[in-house]
Amino acid sequence: MNGWKLVYEEFNPQQEALREALCTLGNGYFASRGAAPESSAGGTHYPGTYIAGCYNRLQTQIAGETIENESLVNASNWLALTFRIENGNWFDVGNVNVLSYHQELDIKQAILTRTIRFCDPDGRHTRVDQRRLVSIEHPHLAALETSIHAEDWSGSIEVRSALDGQVVNAGVERYRDLNKRHLNPGTAESIADDTFWLEVETSQSRIRIVQAATTRLWRGEQCITPAPAVDQAEGYIAHHYQTRLNPQQPLRIEKVVALYTSRDHAISEPGLEARKAIARAPTFDVLASCHNLMWKQLWQRFDFDIEHDDPEEEEKTERNLRLHILHLVQTISPHVMDLDVGVPARGLHGEAYRGHIFWDELFIFPLFNLRMPEITRALLRYRYRRLDEARRAARIAGYRGAMYPWQSGSNGREESQRLHLNPKSGNWIPDNSHLQRHINAAVAYNVWQYYQVTRDMEFLSFYGAEMFFEIARFWASIASYNKRLERYEILEVMGPDEYHDAYPTAETPGLNNNAYTNIMAVWVLLRALELREILPSKRFTELCQLMNLSSEEFEHWDKVSRNMHVPFHKDDSDNDIISQFEGYEELKEFGWEGYREKYGDIQRLDRILEASGDSANNYRASKQADVLMLFYLFSSEELGELFTHLGYPFEYDTIPRNIDYYMRRTSHGSTLSRVVNSWVLARADRPGAWPLFAKALDSDVADIQGGTTSEGIHTGAMAGTVDLIQRCFTGIETRGDVLWLNPSLPEGLSSLTLNVRYRQHLLGLYVTPSRLRISTEPSEEKPIRIGIVSDIHEFKPGEVREFQL
Ligand code: BGC
Repeated sequence: MNGWKLVYEEFNPQQEALREALCTLGNGYFASRGAAPESSAGGTHYPGTYIAGCYNRLQTQIAGETIENESLVNASNWLALTFRIENGNWFDVGNVNVLSYHQELDIKQAILTRTIRFCDPDGRHTRVDQRRLVSIEHPHLAALETSIHAEDWSGSIEVRSALDGQVVNAGVERYRDLNKRHLNPGTAESIADDTFWLEVETSQSRIRIVQAATTRLWRGEQCITPAPAVDQAEGYIAHHYQTRLNPQQPLRIEKVVALYTSRDHAISEPGLEARKAIARAPTFDVLASCHNLMWKQLWQRFDFDIEHDDPEEEEKTERNLRLHILHLVQTISPHVMDLDVGVPARGLHGEAYRGHIFWDELFIFPLFNLRMPEITRALLRYRYRRLDEARRAARIAGYRGAMYPWQSGSNGREESQRLHLNPKSGNWIPDNSHLQRHINAAVAYNVWQYYQVTRDMEFLSFYGAEMFFEIARFWASIASYNKRLERYEILEVMGPDEYHDAYPTAETPGLNNNAYTNIMAVWVLLRALELREILPSKRFTELCQLMNLSSEEFEHWDKVSRNMHVPFHKDDSDNDIISQFEGYEELKEFGWEGYREKYGDIQRLDRILEASGDSANNYRASKQADVLMLFYLFSSEELGELFTHLGYPFEYDTIPRNIDYYMRRTSHGSTLSRVVNSWVLARADRPGAWPLFAKALDSDVADIQGGTTSEGIHTGAMAGTVDLIQRCFTGIETRGDVLWLNPSLPEGLSSLTLNVRYRQHLLGLYVTPSRLRISTEPSEEKPIRIGIVSDIHEFKPGEVREFQL
């Protein structure tokens, strides 16, 4: 192991799909899974290339209904390259006698290499070395280099390099019954001995996707590309090159691809741009050196350093955290600043959740806010552009304001599926997850956090505030007054815990007064009221006029914010527990032990229960953190303020009591849950904090959900774990114009070094269990206020100060 490398020393067909996801390379514009170049989709391999924001809709007849799904499209496979010796079988790692295998993802440079030595059925020994990159510097270019060494033979070799647009979306087994052919073939043309191009078009969204590629053969310094035979079919083009190989001179093949779509800016048409870009593209080495330079700069912004008492633990943790940062930056690199995209929950790494954007951004943006907030700004604008669609959704549902979709794709329509397949039972069951209205609180929370860190008034004035006010308006309108309770309540929604979408005997879905939703609604209303003072008065007046916001409406928000209902019930010791939703305590307790014994892995006990004619709705069993989200998002001070505002008691042990209650009733069927779990315990239980953190960190690398990572990484969990060291262990909070720090390192962690950006200041933080050193870079910026534990200090640029903890 090495802090910067993910290494595999053998070829393992069972693990291949997982490795493909973990070895994906991307640049925010597009990404390609780390599939073997010679492979095509089948039982072992799944080459996939996904372009940010490139969606297509298809209809399918399921269970007597026509359902329509929008998916992030698997674009043509540009990697396709293989060879055959003396007219034998085409090389495939699965079909040869592999003598040695080494695959390595260089996390620092974002380059994937593979070395295979094999013996073919005729006894010849051959070595293949491959390197690939998806350029972070030039977002439309990617390259693959293959060197073939004949160790003990001489003879003919045929190289096949292709662009394959016959691919379909078949990366997720559960979606097998859904239509999957998104691409219509377009022009395919060979335009030079070394160059060909392929156009495809998405069937419904009519996005034209063009790849142009050069394939050049080299012997030493000499380019020897022969005239190819062209193999062409609908949606497919290949060049076949014949040459000879001997032990003295390996053959090197460089394939460079340019990818453009009709969604791109500053283009004439994608075909022209792809051909232009490929004609101008440099060699692999030149591409690699620009790529490395830009990654070096990115690492200066995103890296960190930890010291742990156990050096092995230290190395593994650093490696996994860096792997997470790599994949996040590959999904939302600085290139997204110029794109109209959100963060797909599963990255650009696979097809799970069809590339949709969920509330997971709540877990992702804090990391970027403090490192490269320009990226968050661009991603928030994705939501702003879809504000009208959200307004319309609210209106249709009978509410005011804006109601963002639980799952979002191209144009902000609700993309949640209405039916989903339980792979355990084979049943298609109603999917009510669109009732997770709390997504709206997440959008508002993200706007607020971004503003707190950056103080970007321009963004707030022209985009953020409008979204914020419309979301506040939505919460005030969905809240209805209950005369008996003399409080407002929110009915028929779903909280974050997806195991509960209805009451056990109810005919219609939805739960009442999900505590998380209600409290988030209050928080949004309070911040919306605060915004009146923050916005420049002229802009505030303009917005009030444009949005028809009156003082009566603000008064109503204030009233709702003070009188929202939060349900409570008693635990066995007669103490108050915040009820996940109204009536939660009437559900049966779940037999955790028995089910664990019987089924082993019960992370998805909803599926197990449904398959046996039962339902998770009947039990006090959660898929993921729900009430506990409150302790993840808010400090105890903030929560105390919220509860006091609502007139509910908030006691010293409210937090630990609720943690204890719900932790025992959660299966962690979502990787987000482990992040929250680690977060809320990290500060309460220093000795227990590290193992929990380590477990959350394993989510994707060890695929702890048993097969989900191969369908795409979990961007929320990846960002959440990095944010654990960034904000949780340092106790960073950004509120009230102060950057608060209250470090508490888990036992075993002896130091933590990281840089964060706060309001144009670059801060260096060095934390040990007893000391905190803060340095600010020299600049012309105004001083900032930093709160250490409970004291506020003013920091000017160019200062270094140390504090005892
Ligand atoms: C979780 C959601 C999450 C979604 C996408 C689901 O399994 O329950 O909270 O937003 O995955 O990551």
